[in-house]
Amino acid sequence: MIYRLPAEVYLKIAAGEVIERPLSVVKELVENSIDAAAKKVEVELLGGGKKLIKVKDDGSGFPIGEIELAFERHCTSKIKSLQDLDSVSTLGFRGEALSSVIEVADLRVCSSDNERGEGISVLFENRSAIERKTVSMPRGTVIEVYNLFKQFPVRLKFLKSDQYETRLITEFLASFFLFHFSKAVSLKTEKKIILDYQQAGNICERIYQVFGQEVFRQLVPVEFSKDGWQVSGMVSAVNKGFLRKDLQYFAVNGRLVKDRLLFGITKNILQQYIEKSQNAAVIISIIAPAGEVDANIHPQKLEIRFRDTQKLFSVLRQALLSALGISEYRSSYACSGSSNVAQKNLWLEKDAEINSRTNPESNSQPLLIGLQEEFAEHSFRVLGQYQNSYIVAEKDGNLLIVDQHNAHERILFERFKKRKKESAITSVRTLLPIVIQLSAAEITHLEGKRTEIEELGFELELFSAGTLSIKSYPDFLTIDTVREIFLELLQTDFTDQEQLWHSFLSTAACRQAVKANTVLSLSEQEEILKNLFVLDNYQLCPHRRPIVVETTLQEIEKKLKRR
Ligand code: ADP
Ligand code: MG
Repeated sequence: MIYRLPAEVYLKIAAGEVIERPLSVVKELVENSIDAAAKKVEVELLGGGKKLIKVKDDGSGFPIGEIELAFERHCTSKIKSLQDLDSVSTLGFRGEALSSVIEVADLRVCSSDNERGEGISVLFENRSAIERKTVSMPRGTVIEVYNLFKQFPVRLKFLKSDQYETRLITEFLASFFLFHFSKAVSLKTEKKIILDYQQAGNICERIYQVFGQEVFRQLVPVEFSKDGWQVSGMVSAVNKGFLRKDLQYFAVNGRLVKDRLLFGITKNILQQYIEKSQNAAVIISIIAPAGEVDANIHPQKLEIRFRDTQKLFSVLRQALLSALGISEYRSSYACSGSSNVAQKNLWLEKDAEINSRTNPESNSQPLLIGLQEEFAEHSFRVLGQYQNSYIVAEKDGNLLIVDQHNAHERILFERFKKRKKESAITSVRTLLPIVIQLSAAEITHLEGKRTEIEELGFELELFSAGTLSIKSYPDFLTIDTVREIFLELLQTDFTDQEQLWHSFLSTAACRQAVKANTVLSLSEQEEILKNLFVLDNYQLCPHRRPIVVETTLQEIEKKLKRR
């Protein structure tokens, strides 16, 4: 039902937004589509919206007898009284968007509220309905707005190029639908399809659709709730800042906001974990308990007021730090993702700390821990790194030069082997499938050994045209190495499963071990040696290459002609 609001209600509501440019129209129409529970919204522009703005949805449709009423000022189906004002959950509720649009443009609405294919089309010109006819259409609404500002030459003159107006609309749709990830949306112009996002299952998937793989890989998921607050989305992982500055998006209670306080707080928290010259990405949706956010009826709704900013700060801090895997708030950690919290610079012990903090339901396992403190008393002393590739140490009176990559590889290999033996390896489900385009040769390889490969802990789906999606992978792989290791696996020849496991574990160890030419801190060097020396026959890597060059004092003294 569409009601006409009584004056005391609409006067309470902050003054309506004027239609300034095509973007304003698109915003209002798209919000209405979402309020009508549409699953899919299609936007089309001609001349940057100056010639035509068309928004099509598959929502509930207008109540058929009341279309004209909906276009009158202060008519809405969303609130009736002052009491309702505080509890509105829809995006629009002032009941004046449509009337504002027909004040400045001509408009045709076609809408159907039933499954029988019966719809109504109404044409508005110069603010009044001049034609009404029945049409046959599926449930939903199509609104076409044209001749925008035909009677407002000044406003028309203020509009920029078609391209510019289109860009504003594109940016709006991308950011708005980040948080309405379960809706499909597309935008097309006379020239091309500018965006086309399918329905996504969660915000991370939508972030992937909007920003692409390059950005997505640098982010970690945020999933946090406490005391009725919920924070979800993604932020820059440790040390994964961006040169671009436009990756900050916030929604509060489902509304997109451009709020300086939120921007400031999150920047303050995240900036310490990325380089000074870079910017942290933060794309989060905040659900605050009732009463914490000012029941906001300001028309632009871009800035909001939080009742308790201290609380907001503390919630965001906990949410973001736990997403980054920073230990401060151990107990509230809730990770929805997999092992992609592991950061390069939190390597080794930190890794362990992070992994042990992940939610018990998540399958990620520590990479290097478990290789514990057996070696309580070090029988060695690290002297430093040579060429950023070798660890130089003193042990039992001898001088050791240890190949850091080979040593770490051996440690990882032994650890994976042990877990395999104990049947302790599980599979991790990816947040988003890892998609690989296979060549014809690779498809043949895969077909020949798919069962064996799946037995290692992979869950695969092969689509036509050679697209492979990896949905789960063994937990000892880090997410960024899965693709590479998998492709290597395809090239592996083997005679039995045992042999396949062996080469799989050794490839995984090799790919995940620290590389040569990597600066290591003293404690990282110590950690490697400590874990290396507890292994039997630690001098050899899994490929039987030596790991350590050992020189005795006598040999050195001999060279120095001291003996
Ligand atoms: P408000 O959104 O504030 O209620 P509007 O002027 O934007 O005011 O819309 C008036 C009314 O028209 C809405 O309350 C709703 O009942 C109806 N309406 C508008 N757009 C749609 C749509 N796409 N699908 C179904 N109903 C719609
Ligand atoms: Mg509205």
